Amino acid sequence: MVEIFIFILGLFFGSFSNVVIRRMPYGNSIVKPASHCPKCLIPIKCIDNLPILSFIFLGGKCRNCKTKISFEYPIVELLTGLLFLSGYLNFGISFNFLIFLILSVLLIIISFIDLHLRIIPDILTISLLIFGLASSFFNPIVSLNFLNSLKGALFGGTFLFLVAWIGEKIYKKEVMGGGDIKLLAAGGSFLGCHNVFLAILIACFIGGLTGLFLILIGNKKKSDFIPFGPFISLGIIILFYFNP
Ligand SMILES: [Zn+2]
Repeated sequence: MVEIFIFILGLFFGSFSNVVIRRMPYGNSIVKPASHCPKCLIPIKCIDNLPILSFIFLGGKCRNCKTKISFEYPIVELLTGLLFLSGYLNFGISFNFLIFLILSVLLIIISFIDLHLRIIPDILTISLLIFGLASSFFNPIVSLNFLNSLKGALFGGTFLFLVAWIGEKIYKKEVMGGGDIKLLAAGGSFLGCHNVFLAILIACFIGGLTGLFLILIGNKKKSDFIPFGPFISLGIIILFYFNP
């Protein structure tokens, strides 16, 4: 029963994340105006704004103008719901669980903004970093130790900064954005030095495989840019979840 409640709570947080993803990078308010169809601008009724269910009932189209609604909406909702549920099953009701929920929501927002626009807003990474440092006193992964959290942030940031710097020298162009560096620093504040290093290895591994796959199926060229934020996020969440 609790499981169902937490899953549904996650769906609603996913719905909220969709709004942030679509509005925040453009400097638009998250609360005003109320949700509306991007095409016909007609406000969406509450009944048509339920996570996942409304998408299915409406057949993925606006009730008014029949414009297709992006599949990304239900995907973000489902992803958030599943993260909430798996967090509960893994951590139970605990500080770790609470940290995991906030981390999940912020990383989903960051990842999808990066996928859309290839930027990661500073306000998000810096909020994440501050939250990571502040929550270190309750975070067993950094041994409830602020200094470990700080070291993780410094290590993560410095490490990726060096990778970016060396990459730029070799390829004569920017290979990694400042947003990625700040994101890994923020991740480090939740994970500590050792784990943040593993997180970046996982990010490179999954990112590399995905890039290879996209090139093989002809979706991307070798010279194309693939946003790295989602992979860093994945690395951070995997390490936090499994905490080896
Ligand atoms: Zn419409």
